[in-house]
Amino acid sequence: MDKRIQKIREIFAIEYGDAVCTLDYEKPYELMIATQLAAQCTDARVNIVMKDMVKKYKSIEDYANADPIGLMEDIHSTGFYRNKAKNIIAAAKMLIADFGGRVPDTMEDLLKLPGVGRKTANLILGDVYGKPSVVVDTHAGRLSRRIGLTKHTDPYKVELDLLAIVPPDYQTLFCHQLVYHGRKYCKAQRPDCVHCPIEMYCENHI
Ligand code: SF4
Repeated sequence: MDKRIQKIREIFAIEYGDAVCTLDYEKPYELMIATQLAAQCTDARVNIVMKDMVKKYKSIEDYANADPIGLMEDIHSTGFYRNKAKNIIAAAKMLIADFGGRVPDTMEDLLKLPGVGRKTANLILGDVYGKPSVVVDTHAGRLSRRIGLTKHTDPYKVELDLLAIVPPDYQTLFCHQLVYHGRKYCKAQRPDCVHCPIEMYCENHI
């Protein structure tokens, strides 16, 4: 294992040993929908919206048959609601028509779903199916560049760089821990490098 990742892993185990996905969900398709809503929106806002949504839409069929205008109103506060509503309904219909109502467990099939990109697909593969996967969201990308784990800004290239150095059994947890670390120390505007527990392993590319 990359020695720096090993050291960071030891420190993160103490700091964020129980890090989990910051989106709330119970059913796999709820994670798919929540992740779509999280585009250009905070996870906290999505969690508030989803809390009401799960009371109204109790199955994947409810999403597939949703009134588009009503769904747009329900998700309005997450932004880009027209496109998101269109994709959620289309993805729900495809899940029923092509996958027996079950969220698929391969990257290839997940990417067929409208509105599902690599970030959502990797999150589902890792969190729902326990498969090694690297989720590159804004936080993971920013921190990976600052720490010096990648030089890329393209999320897919960042994903490939992380896949090469983070062991499979740590990939999902590592990405969740990056989100926690970004919130606590490595904030977008003012990173707290002085108090950061991994400062000695960071290249500080700010
Ligand atoms: S040392 Fe600074 S830039 Fe590096 S991870 Fe810590 S807070 Fe972020």
